[in-house]
Amino acid sequence: MSEPFIVQGWCPTAWQPMQSQDGWIVRVRPHCASIQVVQWRVLAELSLAHGDAQIELTRLGNVQLRGVAESQLFSLRSTLIAAGLVPADADEDLAPPVHCTPFYRQGDATHVLAQSLSAAVCTHLRPSALQRLGLEALPSKFGLLVDDTQQRLKNTHADVRLWATPDGRYAMSAGTALTWIPMARMEDAVSAAIDLARWFARERMAHQPMPTRLQRVIAQFPRDATTHGAADTESLSPSALPDAGRLIGVPLGRIDAQALLDVIAHMPDTAELRVTPWRSLWIDGDSAHWGKAFQDTTHWITQTDDARLRVSACTGAPRCAQGHMAAQALALHIAPHVPQNAHVHVSGCAKHCALSAEATALISAVRNEEAVQLDLRKPKDNDTQAIHITPDSLQAAPQQIQKLIHDLHLRNQR
Ligand code: SF4
Repeated sequence: MSEPFIVQGWCPTAWQPMQSQDGWIVRVRPHCASIQVVQWRVLAELSLAHGDAQIELTRLGNVQLRGVAESQLFSLRSTLIAAGLVPADADEDLAPPVHCTPFYRQGDATHVLAQSLSAAVCTHLRPSALQRLGLEALPSKFGLLVDDTQQRLKNTHADVRLWATPDGRYAMSAGTALTWIPMARMEDAVSAAIDLARWFARERMAHQPMPTRLQRVIAQFPRDATTHGAADTESLSPSALPDAGRLIGVPLGRIDAQALLDVIAHMPDTAELRVTPWRSLWIDGDSAHWGKAFQDTTHWITQTDDARLRVSACTGAPRCAQGHMAAQALALHIAPHVPQNAHVHVSGCAKHCALSAEATALISAVRNEEAVQLDLRKPKDNDTQAIHITPDSLQAAPQQIQKLIHDLHLRNQR
């Protein structure tokens, strides 16, 4: 029988770090997806001094340090606060996150909307503000998002989504709905988002167990919505985008701290490297000429055909206590053999943390009795007829991943 796994059910912050096998995870939530070079320097130096020498990019555009010793948590947090990366009080840090598209220009409608929503969330949705209304704090899985006018983040998970529309108005959608509510003024859009979050805070208290995502109860929300089909969008690969800037990828979404210090050594402190929800960096048009600094292909991905873009992996062993294998090493090992139109996510156990939305095949390590085996299946499809292989077999012949993926799809044609 396979082992159960532990679901944490909450997300770490700087004031509420999460313990892992290799130490503490401290998460920083960038304001408007923006981190200046001077702040990246602080993150990199902290990672080298107190972490595992990497900076992880998360799927929602956060950054986190891993492997921090408990004795260092206080001073590390103080340094992050001094750098303006973390709020100075826990109440503010525990307000819901406001994720933001990196695709905006300073002061444009998207940027102003993100700033306004962030301020409103901080004032009205922090735990103490909700407590004054007799409401419990919103769950840490709950989050809001400001998208760009093209809705490039449409497939990014969020409970409440706002954006400025190309015709100068604003819009809000809830959960995974394809319908949205149009609004003429930004203030109305921000107020509507706060009202919806407060409604969820109250509504969830009537359920046991209390839901952590708005989607579970949104059908009860008493408001009309104008139906509008938004265009489907896909993840963006490292490349130049028209009239804007450059995307820079990092292997498996993890930045080597020393490599980052080397790259930013000659950049001005105020230059921005924004974070994307696809675990990459965005250099906007004003700073795009710095893109040429990311030449070391060991640490940076600048070409759309880089094989490492076709794999992703969770933390896995040995850093994660629940991991049955070194998921990251296996992912990089098979990457050159993954077909161009496929994406393989490698998971150290059946929990599937950070499962990539673009994955077309999923490898999970499962312990049965004494042995570990790999299950290859379609992601998020419980009816998949899985293919079972041993880690040693795939390690010895990584090229067989091509045939395994072919067989998986053949076996599961419906
Ligand atoms: S999926 Fe990976 S990171 Fe998550 S618990 Fe399992 S081994 Fe750990």
